[in-house]
Amino acid sequence: MRVIVVGAGVIGVSIAEALTHRGADVAVLDMRGPGRGASQASAGMLTPYSEAEGSSPLLDLCTRSLALYDAFIARLLDVSRGSIEYARTGSLDVALDDDGVAKLLGTKVALDTTGVESEWLDENAVRQFEPSLTPAAHGGLLTLDHGLVGAESLVNALVHQARLAGATFEFPIESLSIEQLGESVEVRALDRTWSGDAVVVATGSWSRRVKIAGVPALPVRPVRGQLLHLQWCEGDLPGRIIWGPHCYAVPWSDGTLLVGATAEDVGFDEGTTVAGVNALTSGVIDMLPHASGARIESVRVGLRPALADELPAIGPFTSAPRIVAATGHYRCGVLLAPLTAELVVNYLLDGRHDPAFVATTPDRFARN
Ligand SMILES: Cc1cc2nc3c(=O)[nH]c(=O)nc-3n(C[C@H](O)[C@H](O)[C@H](O)COP(=O)(O)OP(=O)(O)OC[C@H]3O[C@@H](n4cnc5c(N)ncnc54)[C@H](O)[C@@H]3O)c2cc1C
Repeated sequence: MRVIVVGAGVIGVSIAEALTHRGADVAVLDMRGPGRGASQASAGMLTPYSEAEGSSPLLDLCTRSLALYDAFIARLLDVSRGSIEYARTGSLDVALDDDGVAKLLGTKVALDTTGVESEWLDENAVRQFEPSLTPAAHGGLLTLDHGLVGAESLVNALVHQARLAGATFEFPIESLSIEQLGESVEVRALDRTWSGDAVVVATGSWSRRVKIAGVPALPVRPVRGQLLHLQWCEGDLPGRIIWGPHCYAVPWSDGTLLVGATAEDVGFDEGTTVAGVNALTSGVIDMLPHASGARIESVRVGLRPALADELPAIGPFTSAPRIVAATGHYRCGVLLAPLTAELVVNYLLDGRHDPAFVATTPDRFARN
């Protein structure tokens, strides 16, 4: 089967790699280059229980995907020349006041009910456990299953492995329109056309701009996120992801820390702002006082692809079943990459409609 994947963010390259692994012939098109959309800005957190509400379709997707992560990374490391930073060191949600304590204790009860392993650390225990925290910390909730992955190294490894297995990558190519014509599909750019048996639309925040014949535009909207990349200079770097009331901090083995993130409705503006940097620096200093001595290496920015119900659109269009959506992953695209690839590949190569498609079908927007 020949599949054209439009968009080479973490979602498109995960799908391309999984398709080539199963023997498909894959061409990937991107208007910038692999990983140059939202994926380069991602903090790489794999934290479903902090991102999604208890017993929601999003939580189901996120926990299913997290369960695939160990094998996903192990398979890539088997042949990848580079390395991928990946750790399941848990995450620590920190309360800085009594309201924060009450909220986290409520979360603990919800996690206990569903059998998710977590541990409540009171004010003394939390400071002992994580000495980089402010002495004002009132307590913390440790969620043991959570983890992190270096998004850039992950995208590079996926591209490398997909190429080794025969995928072609072409960029800069902006796909303008897509059409199913009987048993085949056509993808058109300004002056070229690609034909195949199926096409995957993995165009993130820009999905609304791709014209798909016979279906309404996918109503994905960009939500800007700014993120600080800091070089830690004083005291111990935190040992795991720390979530506070105003920001999160993700430590890396090279002694740097990512601090995120803003969530701004500013259209396709990928600029960084003083207000964004100010909010993140004050949020992280409140939580980790030694952050005041850290050096700002860079300010990253990315456009999260959001749909109104905050669920991704994954699956075929009923009226054009050879056109498959894989977009709208909003805050969780890196976490959801292995599951998205598995669902799309099982559909394209085995004709399997995963039960998750009921919630993620791209047709749900045509009904409104
Ligand atoms: C600051 C920030 C922090 C984040 N932190 C996390 C996190 O900790 N954990 C997590 O799981 N997620 C996180 N996310 C979300 C995650 O980054 C996104 O959900 C994910 O990157 C989406 O991947 P994607 O491949 O769908 O989109 P993108 O990475 O944006 O890729 C889409 C690609 O499509 C290409 N494209 C678009 N239109 C066309 C076209 N017409 N023709 C050809 N190519 C096209 C673009 O050039 C781009 O390369 C974060 C996002 C931000 C901004």
